[in-house]
Amino acid sequence: MKKLAAYLNRRLTGAVYVSRRICEAYSTDQSGMKMLPQMVAVPTSTRDVQKLVVFAGSLAGKGIKLGITPRGSGTDKTGAAIGQGIVVSMREEMNKILEIDTRQKLVRVQAGVTIRELNNTLALHGMTLPIAADDQTVGGLLAKNFTGPMSAKYGGLGRYVTNVEVVLADGTVASTAPVSRRRAEKIASGSGLLAEIYKVLLNDCEPRTDDETTFGYQVPKREKTISILPMLLGSQGTLGVMTEVIFRTEYFEELPTMVAVSFETWAEALEWTERIVPLQPSVGDVYDMKLLNLADGMGKALKFLELGGQGVLMVVGFDEEKRHKRMAKALKAAKLAPESVKKVVSDEQNYEDFLQLREVMGVFLNETGRHRVAICDDVVIPREQTERFMGALSRLGAQVGTEMPFFGSLLTRQWSVRPDMNERKRVVFLQHYARLVKMCGGAVCGAVPEGRTRAGIMNRLVDGAIVAQNKKIKQVFDPNDIMNPGVKDGFPPERIPHFETETAVRRVLP
Ligand SMILES: Cc1cc2nc3c(=O)[nH]c(=O)nc-3n(C[C@H](O)[C@H](O)[C@H](O)COP(=O)(O)OP(=O)(O)OC[C@H]3O[C@@H](n4cnc5c(N)ncnc54)[C@H](O)[C@@H]3O)c2cc1C
Repeated sequence: MKKLAAYLNRRLTGAVYVSRRICEAYSTDQSGMKMLPQMVAVPTSTRDVQKLVVFAGSLAGKGIKLGITPRGSGTDKTGAAIGQGIVVSMREEMNKILEIDTRQKLVRVQAGVTIRELNNTLALHGMTLPIAADDQTVGGLLAKNFTGPMSAKYGGLGRYVTNVEVVLADGTVASTAPVSRRRAEKIASGSGLLAEIYKVLLNDCEPRTDDETTFGYQVPKREKTISILPMLLGSQGTLGVMTEVIFRTEYFEELPTMVAVSFETWAEALEWTERIVPLQPSVGDVYDMKLLNLADGMGKALKFLELGGQGVLMVVGFDEEKRHKRMAKALKAAKLAPESVKKVVSDEQNYEDFLQLREVMGVFLNETGRHRVAICDDVVIPREQTERFMGALSRLGAQVGTEMPFFGSLLTRQWSVRPDMNERKRVVFLQHYARLVKMCGGAVCGAVPEGRTRAGIMNRLVDGAIVAQNKKIKQVFDPNDIMNPGVKDGFPPERIPHFETETAVRRVLP
């Protein structure tokens, strides 16, 4: 491996490392999984990425498998930011903001820049991207098709992309800018990888642009113009390495006026949600009271709400540009809640407490090194099924002897659960959980693609035709299987121990 690294180091402007210490540092993400890469590459340019991909491709041609795992900040929750070949870390050097066009409100960046860095710089020009992420890179966020707490109002990050530069598996640098049908047909009639991709895109796969799930590969509808972007969103580094992105920016107020309301029953919380949706809140977090009690030890943040007991806490925010409008909406939302419930509107005195609440929950929910890992995060449940799902979840928890503290949003309908359990129990639990989500009409890969942790389960849960189409798309983009191998692929279901049938889950569903 040292020889291969020396070869690459002579050819790249960036660097390649093989030391155990460095490889260890890139061997985990937020999934609880660990995979030691053979090398870590730190490219400085698209050209470097191209060279790495071509290198891996030529090795594959000689029967040596050294996959390319693109990596941003390594916060993926599905084991998709780790791999056994070359981890290509975009974060260190390919993190530049290349161009800002204030007139057209466009920004061009390298894929390793984080949303925090980008929004801090954009703010100086009165521009922002309405995305509730911090230290995650734009490449990582697009590769997992990021939707977050604000996406009910603003949509996911993909909505703001005008173009992505991507290095494909044969080293071609492609653009995702939409092309006319005629141009697409012309590309398809040529030769090379891009031609093959367009051939499949135009003639050989069913359009699939499901907003509710990030499973597999999305295929754009065949309209007047066509783009490969939908396929890349949620592809988790399995189709290509994104190197540059152009975004169209939009204004949003980073510090919304908030109102916190605690409800003892789901019926009340759901009714209030229906009433406030027309006010267009930008966020609407829901925390299980059990979770707040668990996190209580971490700071004074939760005390100002004087909470306790059962039920859920909803924290809803309004981000209109004018302060008085934000406040008017927050007060109206508070008024729409029943008299009997506790409610607090943010003001100058308690604003820090509100911020601390979100921070405490963020830290608590993302603490690592314990059993409470994020494998069950980000499923989508139809709003009308929330109560049924939560009831069943709590019964499932009683069956396996673990609390099921959840958090999420009634606006985005994305929910996460953090049971405290060891790895063996987790594999079995995830299967029950996936069935439960499906039986409630939800999407297991709602806001998070299947990665490694959910791929085997998903491939068994979804329609075989979709699984076959995903395989076909992967095959045409990456014939030598060098782009993040093993991700979205998953072990065959028969190798997953204790795959549960519907019957077991039916017992906990009312
Ligand atoms: C505290 C916390 C909160 C989170 N909240 C949310 C949330 O609200 N919504 C949500 O959707 N997710 C959320 N996540 C998950 C996380 O934000 C996403 O997985 C995000 O994509 C990770 O970005 P990253 O830069 O860390 O990418 P990584 O974890 O490094 O990589 C993520 C995936 O993208 C691929 N990738 C990275 N860079 C590129 C590139 N340049 N080209 C091609 N592929 C690439 C990787 O191979 C991997 O498959 C959260 C995670 C944490 C830790």
